[in-house]
Amino acid sequence: MQLGLPEFDMIATDTVEEACSLFFGYGADAQLFAGGTDLFIKMKQRRLLPRMLINIKRIPALDRIRYDADEGLRIGALTAIQSIRDSTVIGEKFRVLSQAAGVLGTPQIRNLGTLGGNLANASPSAEFAPPLLILEASVRCVGPGGERLVPMNEFFVGPGKSVLSQGELITEVHVPDSPLRAQAIYLKHSLRTMDVSMAAAAALVLLDGDVCREVRIALGAVAPTPFRAGKAEEALRGKRLSGDSKDRALLEEVGRIAADESRPIDDLRGYASYRRKVVAMLVRQGLEQAIARARN
Ligand SMILES: Cc1cc2nc3c(=O)[nH]c(=O)nc-3n(C[C@H](O)[C@H](O)[C@H](O)COP(=O)(O)OP(=O)(O)OC[C@H]3O[C@@H](n4cnc5c(N)ncnc54)[C@H](O)[C@@H]3O)c2cc1C
Repeated sequence: MQLGLPEFDMIATDTVEEACSLFFGYGADAQLFAGGTDLFIKMKQRRLLPRMLINIKRIPALDRIRYDADEGLRIGALTAIQSIRDSTVIGEKFRVLSQAAGVLGTPQIRNLGTLGGNLANASPSAEFAPPLLILEASVRCVGPGGERLVPMNEFFVGPGKSVLSQGELITEVHVPDSPLRAQAIYLKHSLRTMDVSMAAAAALVLLDGDVCREVRIALGAVAPTPFRAGKAEEALRGKRLSGDSKDRALLEEVGRIAADESRPIDDLRGYASYRRKVVAMLVRQGLEQAIARARN
């Protein structure tokens, strides 16, 4: 049965400082409201019953995308998924983020949902987590105690749990400039295109001639948190890629190692055994596509 929204109050703010202070002050009774695409569903399902919503959508400084070669890319927490998809600089220099934005939910969700909400929600299947992990991004958080920059691989601590403390909000995501000619791919597998992932993989490859100088692999929806598949990366880093059938065997092996590193569960979206098979396939395909792009 679909329930309506429970009763709540909403207060709007246009500064980060006031948002932190209100969020801290109301404590466990409050939730931040950005796009509301996750929050309202949880409220309708009575999984969250905040008495106060702190509307942060009017904080203009948090809705922007900036890039320069020294500082890299900065994406404000309130940037809509669709704006990430539409950004020229992201499309040209951080294409893997455009790919993730393009497969997140439906057009309505992409227009309302924000990057900050996607990360703060801390779902194991958060679309932006695997690409941001391979790009070695950091999350800027501001709270009553001040500001801190949390490396992406330390941000998630469990299903639905991040390092964010009471009163703390995400203000932006910082992505360092990618190594020249590194190529990255994001692949998602879900029952229907609008569904959240059953399994997802992001792969980054940097070639030096035929040698795989750097490789990064991150997985989503197949463990309590999104994570880097370090053993799979090790199996490929420094290896020579001959461009023939031996590469396929090597990449299949890397995919199998990544599948062994995953810890999927059985749920409505798929069985753990199936998800492991999907991981092996996504990792191999992602690496093949990244390598093909790197060779061009
Ligand atoms: C039909 C449907 C399909 C979806 N498909 C996908 C999908 O394919 N992939 C996917 O990853 N997600 C999907 N989602 C989930 C959701 O749309 C995204 O995670 C979205 O990015 C959430 O952003 P939001 O701004 O709407 O967050 P909100 O709902 O506003 O907030 C979510 C949570 O994050 C907190 N929060 C929000 N902003 C901040 C901030 N700046 N700092 C700290 N805390 C904050 C809120 O308090 C709340 O607890 C889907 C949702 C729906 C309803």
